[in-house]
Amino acid sequence: MTEPASSHFVFKPIIKGISIHGSEELFPVGKIYCVGRNYADHAKEMGGKVDKDQPFFFSKPPQAITQLSKIPFPTQTDELHHEVELVVLLKSKCSNIPPSQVSQHIFGYAVGVDLTKRDLQAIAKKAGKPWDLSKGFDNSAPISKAQKKEGILLDKGKISLKVNGQIKQSSNLSNMAWKVDELISWLSRFITLKPGDLIFTGTPAGVSKLNPGDQVEAEIEDIGSLSFQLIG
Ligand code: MN
Repeated sequence: MTEPASSHFVFKPIIKGISIHGSEELFPVGKIYCVGRNYADHAKEMGGKVDKDQPFFFSKPPQAITQLSKIPFPTQTDELHHEVELVVLLKSKCSNIPPSQVSQHIFGYAVGVDLTKRDLQAIAKKAGKPWDLSKGFDNSAPISKAQKKEGILLDKGKISLKVNGQIKQSSNLSNMAWKVDELISWLSRFITLKPGDLIFTGTPAGVSKLNPGDQVEAEIEDIGSLSFQLIG
């Protein structure tokens, strides 16, 4: 089946775009996959450990992406947490590829924050229920401008996050248990990845509670930074 022409839709499809450093063009957002427990220190603070036999993933809807500098404080939570993450942006279709072929599909990278309703996630975990409502809510994926790095596999660089000027998370991408090429190779065995797909690669230790009015700044060496305030 071919993709229908846009004139055939009953209303205009909403496509999220991510701005790109040094370009007027936008990166169109497709699927979003996020990996859990990819830094040993964060896995430990959550009471678990890294699984080197198999990574696990969850999704956020594309509409979770935001580049707003002021984000309304989410509803239905008393424990909103920040998780700074390297985000990989894919530029081409791939399926069942070995780690050695991953780099040719990379468009670039961005700094992302996987906002999480930790209270709802804890309830879901305990009940063996899905995480969607704790992870995939409105504006749950603030993201920086994309940094184009075609064909480059990133495996080191400082990653950090501050709340109201105070350092909360500080690590290095070299501490990721599953590297970018391993994660994408693994995912591609289950799902056909396409241009526009994003992979959030997990967070280091130091996640903490956010409150209305907080100013969040996140940065990754050579990739960029993002800053937003939670309002309301
Ligand atoms: Mn995360």
